[in-house]
Amino acid sequence: MTFAMRRALLVVLVLVTVLPAATAEARTGGRSRGSAITGGDVDRTSIYLRATYDADLDLEWSTGRVAVRSEMRVTNTSGGPIDRLELNTVAAALGNMDLIETTVDGRAVEVTVSEQTLIVRLGGVLPEGASATVLIRYRATLRDAVSGRSWMFSRANGIRSVHRWIPWVSRKRPFFSADAGDPFFTALSPEVNVSLTADRALTYATTGWSTGSDGNTRHFRATDVRDFNFTAAADYGKTQGYSRDGQTRIVVYSRSFSRSGILADARSALAAFEAKLGQYPYPRLTISEASGGTGMESPSHIWISATDPDYLHRFVTVHEVGHQWFYAVVGNDQPREPFADEAVTEFLTRWYLDSFRGSSCAKDELDRSIYGYSGGCFYETVYVGGAYFLNELRQDISSTRFWSALRGYYQDHRFGFGGTYELLQRLKKAANAAGVDVMPRYRDRFPSLY
Ligand SMILES: [Zn+2]
Repeated sequence: MTFAMRRALLVVLVLVTVLPAATAEARTGGRSRGSAITGGDVDRTSIYLRATYDADLDLEWSTGRVAVRSEMRVTNTSGGPIDRLELNTVAAALGNMDLIETTVDGRAVEVTVSEQTLIVRLGGVLPEGASATVLIRYRATLRDAVSGRSWMFSRANGIRSVHRWIPWVSRKRPFFSADAGDPFFTALSPEVNVSLTADRALTYATTGWSTGSDGNTRHFRATDVRDFNFTAAADYGKTQGYSRDGQTRIVVYSRSFSRSGILADARSALAAFEAKLGQYPYPRLTISEASGGTGMESPSHIWISATDPDYLHRFVTVHEVGHQWFYAVVGNDQPREPFADEAVTEFLTRWYLDSFRGSSCAKDELDRSIYGYSGGCFYETVYVGGAYFLNELRQDISSTRFWSALRGYYQDHRFGFGGTYELLQRLKKAANAAGVDVMPRYRDRFPSLY
């Protein structure tokens, strides 16, 4: 090869590299170079999107002001084109959120905020299989109350509790129209990287694990999670141990309550549920005292309320450990089908504690949404009554058949979504094998499904 030939080849190579990008830009009318978004609209979104998140949060301790920058890489794995994202963050519902910037592939886009949901227009259509980068910057303020759902985004009792601050792939669901229940339907993310900075030294309890620090910034990572939450305090005490099989590090953080009992209960519930359902999939289980409210689940992370009396800690710990199987690993539309996560988790809890009882509310249907029950009867009907229903079924078809069906359902929907119907069908198959006809009770309690 001569020098002239080399120079000619170089020119060709440069043209080959530059031209496609230039024509792509011309085609998309000046849109960001390399963006896969094409013109038009399809009026469609989906929960079946794959997104990874890189998110930073700055916290001003005394005022509770937070500044968030979250960059997500979202790939459309939904089987069809989409033109918007429905992202979930409680900062929008509770934190008086001020949206500073939202871009898709570097271009500013239109966002509508509806309670906890940011509806992000992609500025065109993202075809199946294509990816986009979405950057969101906002400011918000943690509440200084813990009433209602305020505790999810709050500063109280020496603790900062920050739930679902990363705008996350979800579906739009009402936040305020149910008194109780989790109004979240969120997709699993294979990887989340987080940096948390505060204006004072803090101990953080998070959904992930620490990957390092510099100054007052701490870095965390989590994999296969449906949210990324944290609590922080300047004076958390810490007690830790390992699961019985040595596979899971269990760490408990608290300011006001004793940690050893919670650690022991978590350890023993984890072993019991693993034996029945399958291995807990995360390397760590973090349990932390949160500013108030009630116990709350997150993948590999549990909040125990600072305002719960001590006698509730055992029940709440076991219940939230149960959610690791049903919510964290097997997701579902929590607001629309609370039976699929709450009744099953309460069943695990009451089976473990041997504390089944009938609902104190009148017998009612189990297939309504969290918006379909009134006040205290939501817990009594769906949790207590739902757990009782499942336990009667277990007794009628035999424990072996029941647990095998529940384990099968768990394995089938691991890191995806299950649902009330899928669960009931699995149990029906096991009942048929036992010669038990479940249709009368299914029709009675799940009229929308049977
Ligand atoms: Zn629950």
